[in-house]
Amino acid sequence: MKTHDHTTSTPGERAQALLQVLKQKELIPDGYIEQMTQLMAHEWSPENGARVVAKAWVDPVFRELLLRDGTAACAQFGYTGPQGEYIVALEDTPTLKNVIVCSLCSCTNWPVLGLPPEWYKGFEFRARLVREGRTVLRELGTELPHEVTVKVWDTSAETRYLVLPVRPQGSEAMDEEALQKLITKDVLIGVALPHVA
Ligand code: FE
Repeated sequence: MKTHDHTTSTPGERAQALLQVLKQKELIPDGYIEQMTQLMAHEWSPENGARVVAKAWVDPVFRELLLRDGTAACAQFGYTGPQGEYIVALEDTPTLKNVIVCSLCSCTNWPVLGLPPEWYKGFEFRARLVREGRTVLRELGTELPHEVTVKVWDTSAETRYLVLPVRPQGSEAMDEEALQKLITKDVLIGVALPHVA
């Protein structure tokens, strides 16, 4: 029997081969792939996290709930499901910057942040962020004052984080909808700060 030459197969070919085997073994429920594709393409988005953060900035009661029970707070918007079963919001302060990583692989809070960016999955980012967070943030364009402590949170098997940044200066007159536009996927991961243009 000719063995498969893994050196010439692309990730797409390997995924297709795996899919065929799983289908033959009847391990994929009807509609599962279509449902996940729909979620990835249309439901999971950092715009969801932006709505959560903006509401926390303007609504102290919601903010308290978000910090106490992130899963319940996000569920109020309907943001639940795979990789969002146990959501923990990390509160930035003027002297604390939280950053999320998955040092093992690439876990993110799919329903609220969307799928992880390519760099988030990179070995170098995952390895270096834990050791030299401040330097990695600077390289990504986020220079933090020396009085700000960088705290890196390694995603565990169950917990999915989102960063609640400090509401930026100059945003005092902005309404919730305008505030949402300040919050990107990078802000939710914690490698960028929200800025008023
Ligand atoms: Fe992971």
